[in-house]
Amino acid sequence: MASEYVFAPPAAVSIPVLGQQARFPVHRIYCVGRNYEEHAKEMGFTGREPPFFFMKPADAVVVVDADQSGSIPYPSLTKNLHHEIELVAAIGTGGKNISAADAHKHIFGYAVGLDMTRRDLQGDMKKQGRPWDIGKSFDHSAPIGPIVPVVQAGHIEQAEISVQVGGKDRQRSNVSKLIWNIGETIEHLSAAWELQPGDLIFTGTPEGVAAVVSGDTMVGQIAGLPTLTVRVS
Ligand code: MN
Repeated sequence: MASEYVFAPPAAVSIPVLGQQARFPVHRIYCVGRNYEEHAKEMGFTGREPPFFFMKPADAVVVVDADQSGSIPYPSLTKNLHHEIELVAAIGTGGKNISAADAHKHIFGYAVGLDMTRRDLQGDMKKQGRPWDIGKSFDHSAPIGPIVPVVQAGHIEQAEISVQVGGKDRQRSNVSKLIWNIGETIEHLSAAWELQPGDLIFTGTPEGVAAVVSGDTMVGQIAGLPTLTVRVS
């Protein structure tokens, strides 16, 4: 007999996979902080520090299909909503204590994501030494495009990454400039948590993070992946 619940459980969060009917079910969303040198500098930090992580809830995902424009509501409480364009690695095979050398075997595919940030609230929390959740882990904070399987995309290690707002460049860099590359990130992450199929890793953002307002449209691109277009409503 099927399990009974006291109310209907939420639908599984899932992301379309380019060229396939089957979807990618999301387990957890891990994010890497300050993983491009020029972005670390603009946030007031210098020098290589060990990678550090925060999470967003799986249902913060906003799915945007290929060739579609998605939208997110301007979130509550903030007056400084920032875009952070990021390469997202999607885990297909879980594991604990994965070495950087083995890490690529655990990746199912890649996508373009936006780590939307209530920068003013994050800043307040930083000052007080409190958790970042209210600045990072809010509803609709993780717009993402379709996942492109590794068999099609290859492993993305050298690719232009950019986001434009109103047709103008805001962020433009190359994922080769990641301080901790994806293999190293997975090594560190899997030492702390057992990775599971369905985990997403937002790998960090390059310099140029800035505010968007209602009516702005963000166009995020990483060479080799479908464009992510998201309007702030
Ligand atoms: Mn980020």
